Amino acid sequence: MRHTRAHTANRRSHHALTAPTLATCQNCGAKHRPHHMCLDCGFYKGRMVMDMASKKKSREARLEAKREAIKSQQGDVAEPAAVEAPKEEEKKEAK
Ligand SMILES: [Zn+2]
Repeated sequence: MRHTRAHTANRRSHHALTAPTLATCQNCGAKHRPHHMCLDCGFYKGRMVMDMASKKKSREARLEAKREAIKSQQGDVAEPAAVEAPKEEEKKEAK
């Protein structure tokens, strides 16, 4: 059933987005969610809750290991593809 424009506009009057409220970190000055630890430095209420520097280091080491694993996998995949390519040519010649 057809809605009037006013009906649609009334429904959409509640669709506006609101900006999230953010607090400034007492330690580093970055914005973070209120009542939550600062994600930049790991401080909450002037006290270190989580060692973000060591977390970042271990995360980078993990990502680097993953990248190398993917690289070595791609190297394994590329070699069989090169072997398979001549087989397809042989099939075409047979037909
Ligand atoms: Zn901070």
